[in-house]
Amino acid sequence: MLAQRPHLLKAQISRSRTLHITAAAGSASTPGWAYHRVQKDNRNARPENVAGNFWVDHTCIDCDTCRTMAPETFSRIDEQSAVHQQPSDRKGRVRALQALLSCPTFSIHVNEKSSKELKEAQAGMPLPVPGTANCFSCGWRSEKTVGGESFVITRPQGNVMVDAPRYNPILAKRIQEMGGIKYIVLTHKDDVGDHERWAKHFNAPRILHADEVVPDTQAVEVKLTGEGPWQLPDGSDDITLILTPGHTAAHVCLYYAPDKALFSGDHLCAGYTPDEELYVFKDFNWYSVPRQLESVRDLLQYDWLHVLPGHGRPVHLRDALHRLQAVNALLQREGLQLEQQPAAVSSASS
Ligand code: SF4
Repeated sequence: MLAQRPHLLKAQISRSRTLHITAAAGSASTPGWAYHRVQKDNRNARPENVAGNFWVDHTCIDCDTCRTMAPETFSRIDEQSAVHQQPSDRKGRVRALQALLSCPTFSIHVNEKSSKELKEAQAGMPLPVPGTANCFSCGWRSEKTVGGESFVITRPQGNVMVDAPRYNPILAKRIQEMGGIKYIVLTHKDDVGDHERWAKHFNAPRILHADEVVPDTQAVEVKLTGEGPWQLPDGSDDITLILTPGHTAAHVCLYYAPDKALFSGDHLCAGYTPDEELYVFKDFNWYSVPRQLESVRDLLQYDWLHVLPGHGRPVHLRDALHRLQAVNALLQREGLQLEQQPAAVSSASS
Protein backbone atom coordinates (compact mmCIF):
# COMPACT_ATOMS: atom_id res chain seq x y z
CA MET A 1 0.00 0.00 0.00
CA LEU A 2 1.06 2.53 0.38
CA ALA A 3 4.27 3.92 -0.61
CA GLN A 4 4.78 5.76 2.58
CA ARG A 5 4.08 2.83 4.79
CA PRO A 6 6.36 0.14 3.35
CA HIS A 7 8.97 2.59 2.23
CA LEU A 8 9.13 4.09 5.67
CA LEU A 9 9.34 0.70 7.26
CA LYS A 10 12.00 -0.61 4.91
CA ALA A 11 14.10 2.51 5.31
CA GLN A 12 14.04 2.18 9.04
CA ILE A 13 14.86 -1.51 8.98
CA SER A 14 17.85 -1.01 6.74
CA ARG A 15 19.26 1.80 8.84
CA SER A 16 18.87 0.32 12.25
CA ARG A 17 18.78 -3.10 13.79
CA THR A 18 16.23 -1.76 16.22
CA LEU A 19 13.22 -0.13 14.74
CA HIS A 20 11.96 3.03 16.37
CA ILE A 21 9.67 4.81 14.00
CA THR A 22 8.40 7.99 15.46
CA ALA A 23 6.47 9.37 12.50
CA ALA A 24 3.56 6.98 12.84
CA ALA A 25 0.83 7.67 10.32
CA GLY A 26 -2.85 6.92 10.63
CA SER A 27 -4.45 6.42 13.98
CA ALA A 28 -4.34 4.02 16.85
CA SER A 29 -7.66 2.60 15.68
CA THR A 30 -6.36 1.76 12.22
CA PRO A 31 -4.21 -1.37 12.04
CA GLY A 32 -0.85 -1.45 10.40
CA TRP A 33 0.39 1.95 11.32
CA ALA A 34 1.94 1.66 14.73
CA TYR A 35 5.53 1.34 13.68
CA HIS A 36 6.87 3.42 16.50
CA ARG A 37 6.32 0.38 18.73
CA VAL A 38 8.12 -2.12 16.54
CA GLN A 39 11.42 -3.35 17.90
CA LYS A 40 12.93 -5.23 15.01
CA ASP A 41 15.29 -7.41 17.02
CA ASN A 42 13.19 -8.04 20.08
CA ARG A 43 12.06 -11.61 19.72
CA ASN A 44 10.91 -11.88 23.31
CA ALA A 45 7.25 -12.44 24.04
CA ARG A 46 5.12 -9.35 24.42
CA PRO A 47 3.77 -9.17 27.96
CA GLU A 48 0.30 -8.70 26.51
CA ASN A 49 0.14 -12.39 25.47
CA VAL A 50 -1.76 -14.75 27.71
CA ALA A 51 0.50 -17.54 28.94
CA GLY A 52 0.61 -20.65 26.79
CA ASN A 53 1.86 -22.32 23.66
CA PHE A 54 1.38 -19.52 21.10
CA TRP A 55 2.83 -16.03 21.55
CA VAL A 56 3.71 -12.89 19.60
CA ASP A 57 7.02 -11.04 19.91
CA HIS A 58 7.82 -7.31 19.75
CA THR A 59 8.54 -7.30 15.99
CA CYS A 60 4.85 -7.35 15.06
CA ILE A 61 4.10 -4.63 12.50
CA ASP A 62 0.37 -4.64 13.24
CA CYS A 63 -0.56 -5.84 9.73
CA ASP A 64 -3.81 -7.51 10.90
CA THR A 65 -3.09 -10.82 9.15
CA CYS A 66 -3.23 -13.08 12.22
CA ARG A 67 -6.30 -11.33 13.61
CA THR A 68 -8.10 -11.88 10.32
CA MET A 69 -7.08 -15.53 10.06
CA ALA A 70 -7.54 -16.59 13.70
CA PRO A 71 -9.52 -13.90 15.54
CA GLU A 72 -10.37 -16.27 18.38
CA THR A 73 -6.65 -16.41 19.23
CA PHE A 74 -5.11 -13.09 18.21
CA SER A 75 -6.27 -9.56 18.91
CA ARG A 76 -4.89 -6.05 18.80
CA ILE A 77 -3.56 -4.90 22.15
CA ASP A 78 -1.69 -1.63 22.43
CA GLU A 79 -1.23 -1.29 18.66
CA GLN A 80 0.32 -4.70 18.07
CA SER A 81 -1.01 -8.23 18.02
CA ALA A 82 -1.02 -10.55 21.02
CA VAL A 83 -2.54 -13.89 21.92
CA HIS A 84 -5.62 -13.07 23.96
CA GLN A 85 -6.75 -16.69 24.22
CA GLN A 86 -4.86 -19.89 23.52
CA PRO A 87 -6.57 -22.13 20.95
CA SER A 88 -8.40 -24.92 22.73
CA ASP A 89 -9.05 -27.42 19.97
CA ARG A 90 -7.43 -28.82 16.86
CA LYS A 91 -9.23 -26.46 14.44
CA GLY A 92 -8.18 -23.45 16.47
CA ARG A 93 -4.57 -24.62 16.61
CA VAL A 94 -4.52 -25.18 12.84
CA ARG A 95 -5.87 -21.67 12.23
CA ALA A 96 -3.27 -20.23 14.61
CA LEU A 97 -0.55 -22.16 12.75
CA GLN A 98 -1.81 -20.77 9.44
CA ALA A 99 -1.51 -17.29 10.93
CA LEU A 100 2.01 -18.15 12.11
CA LEU A 101 2.97 -19.27 8.59
CA SER A 102 1.43 -16.14 7.09
CA CYS A 103 2.96 -13.58 9.45
CA PRO A 104 5.22 -11.42 7.25
CA THR A 105 7.68 -10.71 10.05
CA PHE A 106 7.76 -14.17 11.67
CA SER A 107 6.56 -12.56 14.87
CA ILE A 108 4.33 -15.46 15.95
CA HIS A 109 5.83 -18.38 17.84
CA VAL A 110 4.67 -21.72 19.18
CA ASN A 111 6.50 -23.62 21.91
CA GLU A 112 5.34 -27.07 20.89
CA LYS A 113 3.61 -28.04 17.69
CA SER A 114 2.26 -31.26 16.31
CA SER A 115 3.73 -32.06 12.90
CA LYS A 116 0.33 -33.44 11.88
CA GLU A 117 -1.36 -30.15 12.66
CA LEU A 118 1.39 -28.19 10.92
CA LYS A 119 0.90 -30.28 7.78
CA GLU A 120 -2.84 -29.73 8.00
CA ALA A 121 -2.26 -25.98 8.29
CA GLN A 122 0.02 -25.98 5.24
CA ALA A 123 -2.33 -28.16 3.21
CA GLY A 124 -5.25 -25.83 3.96
CA MET A 125 -3.67 -22.87 2.21
CA PRO A 126 -4.52 -21.14 -0.07
CA LEU A 127 -7.74 -20.68 1.89
CA PRO A 128 -11.13 -20.58 0.13
CA VAL A 129 -12.71 -17.13 0.13
CA PRO A 130 -16.16 -17.39 1.75
CA GLY A 131 -19.04 -16.93 -0.68
CA THR A 132 -16.98 -17.73 -3.77
CA ALA A 133 -16.40 -20.95 -5.67
CA ASN A 134 -13.01 -20.32 -7.23
CA CYS A 135 -11.25 -17.65 -5.20
CA PHE A 136 -8.55 -18.45 -2.63
CA SER A 137 -6.41 -16.26 -0.40
CA CYS A 138 -2.74 -17.27 -0.40
CA GLY A 139 -1.59 -16.31 3.09
CA TRP A 140 2.23 -16.60 3.37
CA ARG A 141 2.40 -12.82 3.37
CA SER A 142 5.54 -10.87 2.62
CA GLU A 143 7.25 -8.16 4.63
CA LYS A 144 8.05 -6.51 1.27
CA THR A 145 4.36 -5.66 0.97
CA VAL A 146 3.85 -5.00 4.69
CA GLY A 147 1.70 -8.10 4.82
CA GLY A 148 -0.41 -7.52 1.72
CA GLU A 149 -2.77 -10.36 0.76
CA SER A 150 -2.62 -12.11 -2.59
CA PHE A 151 -5.05 -14.49 -4.24
CA VAL A 152 -5.44 -17.36 -6.66
CA ILE A 153 -8.45 -17.75 -8.95
CA THR A 154 -8.92 -21.31 -10.17
CA ARG A 155 -10.60 -21.57 -13.59
CA PRO A 156 -10.69 -23.96 -16.54
CA GLN A 157 -8.91 -21.44 -18.79
CA GLY A 158 -5.93 -21.34 -16.41
CA ASN A 159 -5.44 -20.10 -12.88
CA VAL A 160 -4.63 -16.49 -12.13
CA MET A 161 -2.58 -15.15 -9.23
CA VAL A 162 -3.51 -11.64 -8.10
CA ASP A 163 -0.54 -9.84 -6.53
CA ALA A 164 2.22 -12.02 -5.18
CA PRO A 165 2.79 -13.59 -1.76
CA ARG A 166 6.09 -14.48 -0.12
CA TYR A 167 7.68 -17.25 -2.16
CA ASN A 168 7.55 -20.56 -0.37
CA PRO A 169 8.01 -24.03 -1.90
CA ILE A 170 5.22 -25.52 0.20
CA LEU A 171 2.78 -22.92 -1.08
CA ALA A 172 4.12 -23.40 -4.61
CA LYS A 173 3.44 -27.15 -4.36
CA ARG A 174 -0.09 -26.51 -3.12
CA ILE A 175 -0.78 -24.09 -5.97
CA GLN A 176 0.65 -26.61 -8.42
CA GLU A 177 -1.81 -29.17 -7.06
CA MET A 178 -4.57 -26.65 -7.75
CA GLY A 179 -3.50 -26.43 -11.39
CA GLY A 180 -0.56 -24.02 -11.34
CA ILE A 181 -0.65 -20.41 -12.48
CA LYS A 182 -1.22 -19.14 -16.04
CA TYR A 183 -1.01 -15.40 -15.38
CA ILE A 184 0.07 -13.17 -12.51
CA VAL A 185 -1.82 -9.88 -12.36
CA LEU A 186 -0.14 -7.16 -10.33
CA THR A 187 -2.65 -4.52 -9.33
CA HIS A 188 -0.10 -1.75 -8.81
CA LYS A 189 3.52 -1.07 -8.08
CA ASP A 190 3.56 -1.43 -4.29
CA ASP A 191 2.35 -4.92 -3.59
CA VAL A 192 4.30 -7.09 -5.99
CA GLY A 193 5.88 -9.34 -3.34
CA ASP A 194 8.11 -12.09 -4.72
CA HIS A 195 6.61 -11.69 -8.21
CA GLU A 196 9.77 -12.68 -10.02
CA ARG A 197 10.17 -16.03 -8.23
CA TRP A 198 6.51 -16.91 -8.74
CA ALA A 199 6.67 -15.97 -12.43
CA LYS A 200 9.76 -18.12 -12.89
CA HIS A 201 8.36 -21.06 -10.92
CA PHE A 202 5.16 -21.25 -12.96
CA ASN A 203 6.51 -19.76 -16.19
CA ALA A 204 3.61 -17.34 -15.89
CA PRO A 205 3.59 -13.93 -17.60
CA ARG A 206 3.11 -11.01 -15.25
CA ILE A 207 0.64 -8.26 -16.12
CA LEU A 208 1.04 -4.71 -14.82
CA HIS A 209 0.10 -1.31 -16.17
CA ALA A 210 3.06 0.33 -17.94
CA ASP A 211 2.70 3.44 -15.81
CA GLU A 212 3.19 1.35 -12.65
CA VAL A 213 6.46 -0.19 -13.76
CA VAL A 214 9.44 0.57 -11.50
CA PRO A 215 13.00 -0.82 -11.67
CA ASP A 216 11.97 -4.00 -9.81
CA THR A 217 9.24 -4.73 -12.36
CA GLN A 218 11.00 -3.72 -15.61
CA ALA A 219 10.96 -7.34 -16.75
CA VAL A 220 7.19 -7.75 -16.42
CA GLU A 221 6.04 -9.56 -19.57
CA VAL A 222 2.72 -7.77 -20.28
CA LYS A 223 2.50 -4.02 -19.80
CA LEU A 224 -0.98 -2.60 -20.11
CA THR A 225 -1.30 0.73 -21.86
CA GLY A 226 -4.13 3.21 -22.15
CA GLU A 227 -7.28 3.21 -20.07
CA GLY A 228 -8.72 -0.27 -20.65
CA PRO A 229 -10.71 -2.16 -19.67
CA TRP A 230 -8.57 -5.10 -20.72
CA GLN A 231 -9.01 -8.85 -21.03
CA LEU A 232 -6.29 -11.35 -20.27
CA PRO A 233 -3.93 -12.01 -23.19
CA ASP A 234 -5.73 -15.28 -24.04
CA GLY A 235 -8.95 -13.34 -24.64
CA SER A 236 -11.00 -15.14 -21.98
CA ASP A 237 -13.97 -13.03 -21.02
CA ASP A 238 -14.60 -14.01 -17.40
CA ILE A 239 -11.92 -11.64 -16.13
CA THR A 240 -11.79 -7.89 -16.73
CA LEU A 241 -8.92 -5.65 -15.74
CA ILE A 242 -10.23 -2.20 -14.81
CA LEU A 243 -8.19 0.96 -14.52
CA THR A 244 -8.84 2.48 -11.09
CA PRO A 245 -6.56 5.50 -10.67
CA GLY A 246 -6.33 7.01 -7.23
CA HIS A 247 -4.10 5.13 -4.83
CA THR A 248 -1.52 5.20 -7.60
CA ALA A 249 -1.84 6.72 -11.07
CA ALA A 250 -2.49 3.49 -12.96
CA HIS A 251 -3.81 1.13 -10.31
CA VAL A 252 -5.83 -1.75 -11.78
CA CYS A 253 -8.56 -3.87 -10.18
CA LEU A 254 -9.40 -7.36 -11.42
CA TYR A 255 -13.06 -8.30 -11.76
CA TYR A 256 -13.87 -12.02 -11.89
CA ALA A 257 -17.47 -12.25 -13.08
CA PRO A 258 -18.36 -15.89 -12.20
CA ASP A 259 -17.82 -15.19 -8.48
CA LYS A 260 -18.77 -11.48 -8.62
CA ALA A 261 -15.39 -10.86 -7.05
CA LEU A 262 -13.47 -7.61 -7.25
CA PHE A 263 -9.78 -7.98 -6.45
CA SER A 264 -9.22 -4.44 -5.34
CA GLY A 265 -5.51 -4.16 -4.50
CA ASP A 266 -5.16 -0.99 -2.45
CA HIS A 267 -8.15 0.68 -4.03
CA LEU A 268 -11.04 -0.34 -1.78
CA CYS A 269 -11.57 -2.41 1.37
CA ALA A 270 -13.76 -2.77 4.45
CA GLY A 271 -13.99 0.09 6.89
CA TYR A 272 -12.66 -0.08 10.41
CA THR A 273 -15.88 0.96 12.12
CA PRO A 274 -19.33 -0.64 11.82
CA ASP A 275 -20.81 2.32 9.94
CA GLU A 276 -18.11 2.23 7.24
CA GLU A 277 -18.81 -0.72 4.97
CA LEU A 278 -16.40 0.48 2.30
CA TYR A 279 -13.22 2.43 2.87
CA VAL A 280 -10.35 3.98 0.95
CA PHE A 281 -6.97 4.66 2.50
CA LYS A 282 -6.58 8.43 2.46
CA ASP A 283 -3.45 8.59 4.62
CA PHE A 284 -1.61 6.30 2.22
CA ASN A 285 -2.38 7.73 -1.17
CA TRP A 286 0.30 8.38 -3.78
CA TYR A 287 -1.77 9.97 -6.52
CA SER A 288 -5.20 11.48 -5.77
CA VAL A 289 -7.92 10.75 -3.22
CA PRO A 290 -10.62 12.55 -5.28
CA ARG A 291 -9.62 10.49 -8.32
CA GLN A 292 -9.72 7.33 -6.21
CA LEU A 293 -13.27 8.11 -5.11
CA GLU A 294 -14.27 8.70 -8.74
CA SER A 295 -12.77 5.34 -9.60
CA VAL A 296 -14.81 3.70 -6.85
CA ARG A 297 -17.96 5.29 -8.27
CA ASP A 298 -17.08 4.07 -11.76
CA LEU A 299 -16.78 0.51 -10.47
CA LEU A 300 -20.56 0.50 -10.11
CA GLN A 301 -20.65 -0.48 -13.77
CA TYR A 302 -19.63 -3.96 -12.66
CA ASP A 303 -21.64 -6.51 -10.72
CA TRP A 304 -19.28 -7.16 -7.79
CA LEU A 305 -20.35 -8.34 -4.36
CA HIS A 306 -17.04 -9.52 -2.87
CA VAL A 307 -14.27 -6.96 -2.43
CA LEU A 308 -10.95 -8.77 -1.91
CA PRO A 309 -8.23 -6.24 -1.08
CA GLY A 310 -4.49 -6.46 -0.69
CA HIS A 311 -4.58 -4.39 2.48
CA GLY A 312 -7.58 -4.03 4.73
CA ARG A 313 -10.28 -6.60 5.25
CA PRO A 314 -12.58 -8.07 2.60
CA VAL A 315 -16.18 -6.98 2.11
CA HIS A 316 -19.07 -9.29 1.26
CA LEU A 317 -22.19 -7.46 0.10
CA ARG A 318 -25.67 -8.96 -0.17
CA ASP A 319 -26.79 -7.69 -3.57
CA ALA A 320 -26.59 -4.84 -6.06
CA LEU A 321 -28.69 -2.53 -3.90
CA HIS A 322 -26.38 -3.13 -0.95
CA ARG A 323 -23.42 -2.34 -3.20
CA LEU A 324 -24.98 0.91 -4.36
CA GLN A 325 -25.80 1.92 -0.79
CA ALA A 326 -22.29 1.13 0.42
CA VAL A 327 -20.63 3.12 -2.37
CA ASN A 328 -23.06 5.98 -1.88
CA ALA A 329 -22.34 6.03 1.86
CA LEU A 330 -18.58 6.15 1.19
CA LEU A 331 -18.93 9.02 -1.26
CA GLN A 332 -21.28 10.94 1.03
CA ARG A 333 -18.84 10.63 3.93
CA GLU A 334 -16.33 12.34 1.67
CA GLY A 335 -18.83 15.05 0.68
CA LEU A 336 -19.48 13.65 -2.79
CA GLN A 337 -22.59 12.49 -4.59
CA LEU A 338 -23.25 9.82 -7.15
CA GLU A 339 -23.46 12.43 -9.92
CA GLN A 340 -24.61 10.05 -12.55
CA GLN A 341 -25.89 6.63 -11.76
CA PRO A 342 -24.46 4.16 -14.26
CA ALA A 343 -27.04 2.21 -16.27
CA ALA A 344 -25.86 -1.13 -14.88
CA VAL A 345 -26.63 0.06 -11.36
CA SER A 346 -30.07 1.32 -12.27
CA SER A 347 -31.11 -2.00 -13.70
CA ALA A 348 -29.33 -4.13 -11.11
CA SER A 349 -30.88 -2.32 -8.17
CA SER A 350 -34.40 -1.93 -9.50
S1 SF4 B 1 0.57 -11.37 11.31
FE1 SF4 B 1 2.47 -10.92 12.42
S2 SF4 B 1 2.95 -8.80 11.91
FE2 SF4 B 1 0.86 -9.13 11.30
S3 SF4 B 1 -0.38 -8.46 13.06
FE3 SF4 B 1 -0.02 -10.66 13.33
S4 SF4 B 1 1.83 -10.86 14.55
FE4 SF4 B 1 1.74 -8.77 13.78
